[in-house]
Parts: sequence; structure tokens; C-alpha cells
Amino acid sequence: MIKRFALSLLVALFCSHFSFAADVAKPVLSEVEGQPGKSDNLSFNQLLKQFSAEYTAGLQMPEPPMPADSEGAGVQDDRYWITVQAADRYVRTRLLEAGVDIVEIRKNDLSGIAPKDSLALLAQKGYTIEKKVPLWQYIQSLKDFPAADAAYHNYQETTDLLKSLVSKNSDIASLFSLGKSVEKREIWCLRINSAAKGTASSGKPGAVYIGNHHAREHLSNEVPLLLAVYLLDHRNDADIGKYIAGLDIYIIPMLNPDGVEYDIRTGRYQWQRKNMRVNSNKSIGVDLNRNYDSWFGGQGASHYPSADTYCGPSAFSEPETLAVKKFVEARKNLTTMNSYHSYGGLIMYPWGGKDAPIDNEKDRQVFIKMASEMAKLTNYTPEQSNEMYIATGDTCDWAYDAAGIFAFTTELEGRGFYPGAAIIEKAVTRNVKAAVYMLSVTDNPYKILK
Ligand SMILES: [Zn+2]
Repeated sequence: MIKRFALSLLVALFCSHFSFAADVAKPVLSEVEGQPGKSDNLSFNQLLKQFSAEYTAGLQMPEPPMPADSEGAGVQDDRYWITVQAADRYVRTRLLEAGVDIVEIRKNDLSGIAPKDSLALLAQKGYTIEKKVPLWQYIQSLKDFPAADAAYHNYQETTDLLKSLVSKNSDIASLFSLGKSVEKREIWCLRINSAAKGTASSGKPGAVYIGNHHAREHLSNEVPLLLAVYLLDHRNDADIGKYIAGLDIYIIPMLNPDGVEYDIRTGRYQWQRKNMRVNSNKSIGVDLNRNYDSWFGGQGASHYPSADTYCGPSAFSEPETLAVKKFVEARKNLTTMNSYHSYGGLIMYPWGGKDAPIDNEKDRQVFIKMASEMAKLTNYTPEQSNEMYIATGDTCDWAYDAAGIFAFTTELEGRGFYPGAAIIEKAVTRNVKAAVYMLSVTDNPYKILK
């Protein structure tokens, strides 16, 4: 922790973080001379190769968002990039509640995003705002844009790849929708089970991987999506074959498709974190990772609709989180979960919403052991979720509390705001290893204590 402060590393819990752009106005890979097209028929290794620095170097990066009144900006964005004094996690928790989306944490202060109309409130509450600039201006000042982003899968490409995987592996893979998003997109779930298809029940122990709760964290779609490709590519390997035969595996790569599409639709990043709900004050979005029923609306959640950490009017008010609730409640066989976010390089376990360890000591030991094993495989840091600040309403607290699932939040790697597509290859490779480790204990997580 201290080391991280000293390095002024950007740290994200429940991810404030920015990612890469994807689509729209991007060149289609097949149009790049001498390079293969983004095909649904590529193997895991071929897909990974698409993300290499060499391959993506010639692709164009979309431009950053523009001010609300500039031509072609399309949307009103009155958010500010601010730096505020904050010396500990309790102050950070209060700032989250006041509507600050924390992005960078340093020893004595932090930087993040706040809606314009929350600035007066912050001053009134006595917080010292050291710096503030309109978000669009801040983004334009960043110089280290990546070379390209086109290798990221948008919603349609994600859908196409999932369908292609299922058609090639129809004996063990199936695809179903968890329900529709606010804007009526299907929330896809790929299932790998040698005996049960679609929503048919299974008595086998289950693992679930979820990506893209937060729209701009595009890497968090790539990891579970490519995990699906990997597992099906390696279905005949001894270990993978055993897991496929004995387990019920679910992969939900893009929980927030509306936010993802909004983030990339103009070819300029919108820095969208939330879903696309139209709130009572006409602002857009609820923070899906504050919307679960784990001390809903308590510490670290904002009740301010314009805030990026807005928890929504009630727990599970959003179709995306409600879909996860129904999915989990209908499957008593689930024992493990990994929810991907970016970035920070962390493997986190409950509680995040409470300033205390979990009560059940045996469970706590399982969480710690699993987190440390996955941390070794990813070179990330294992820690309890509340270490940087306390935040209620997150997926993993709820999944453990409501269903006893060993649920982890993985903050994927990456520094800077737009690390580009070249980061995908390494992130996927190491996180596939951790995901496979999770499968290895899904039959009975308690066995690792023996
Ligand atoms: Zn996140």
C-alpha cells in the first residue's frame, strides 16, 4: 500500500477507471493491409496475436471527448476533473458519497471526476479542492494515447464471437440471454456444460465470470470473452476437459452493453462508467457496482444522480443488476465468481462495503488463499475490498452475502487512461491462468484449506 502511494500509482477500487476506446470510425482489421480480418473463426492464439503492439501500431485512435458546446460533441458533459485533499480511506469514502468518482489515489490527496453541481457541495462540506478543470479539457491534455483500439470487441463483435463459439462447440456450449439492458440489448451468457444447455438446471458446481459492469473498462470484456475462447480451444486438454466434464461454467462478458456502446459510439471516448438509465434529474446512468443489495446506499455510494457513483433509487433498480440477481438466485450450484473491472492490478474479496473482515473464519481463509493464488498467477495484489475505501452495493459482497459464493473482484492491469490494445494479450494470458485456477477449486473451495 505504502509502496503504491509512493509510486503515485493509479489505483482503482470498484474501478473508476478509464479504458480504451473501441469501435465506430475505427478501421476494420480486415482493411489493414496484410493482416487477417477480425474473424470469428480464429483460435485463442490467433486472437491474442491481433492484440500485439506490432499488429495494432498502424491503427488510428479515436479522438477524446469534446466540450458540450463544441461541434459534433453530441452530449452534454459537465463533469470536472478535480484534485481534493484526502488523507485516509474514511475521507475517500465520504468523497465517494459526495459524488466524486475516485480515479487516482495519492498519500495526501486524490483526483477524480465530479459533476459540476457537486463542487459547491464539496466546498460547503469543507473539502479543499486543489485543482479543477473541465473533464474534456483534462482529457485533451493527456499526451500518451495508445496507438489503437480496434482490436477491442464491441457489442456486436462480442455477440458474433459468442455465437460462433457456440456453433463450433454445440455439444458443450450454449448461449442464452440473462435479460435485456435498459436500451433492450440482450445480456449474453455463454455456458459450458457437458450435460445441460441454456437455462436447464445442473447439479454440477458452478463458476461464473462477469465483465463490463463499468462501460469504459473495455478490457474487462476481453478477459472473460477470451477465457471462453481459451476453454473451448483447449477442451481436450486433460485439466480443462476435467473441468468441463465436472463443472457448470458461465461467462457473462458484457453486463453493461448500453454503456459500452455509448462510450464508443462517436469514435470519441465518453468516459462512461454507468448504465444508460435516464435519472429523475435527466442525468444518465446508475453505477451498477453500487446497485446490488449489500448495504445498499450506504458508505461509499452517492445518492446524487449526476455522480458517477450514483447507486440508483433502490437496490436492483436496474435491469442489468436484476439480471445477475435472478441468474444467481436460480442457480444454487454456484460456488465461485469473478467480476472483472479495470484498472489497478488487484484481486479483492469481501467485504468492500463494511469496515470489518467477514465473520466466518473458514470462509475468510478460503478467500485469502484463493486471492493469493490468483494474485501469484496474475502478479496482482490480493486484498480485502475495503482497503482503499469503503463502498457498498457491489456485486461480490452481495453474491457472498446472499448466496455464499466465493466472489472476487479483479481489477485488471493498466496504467494511464488509454493503454491501447497491446495490453490485452498479457492481461488475457495471465488472467486466463487465474480463471482456470478458480475452476480447479470450484468443485469444493474448502478443499484448499486441507
Ligand atoms: Zn469497474
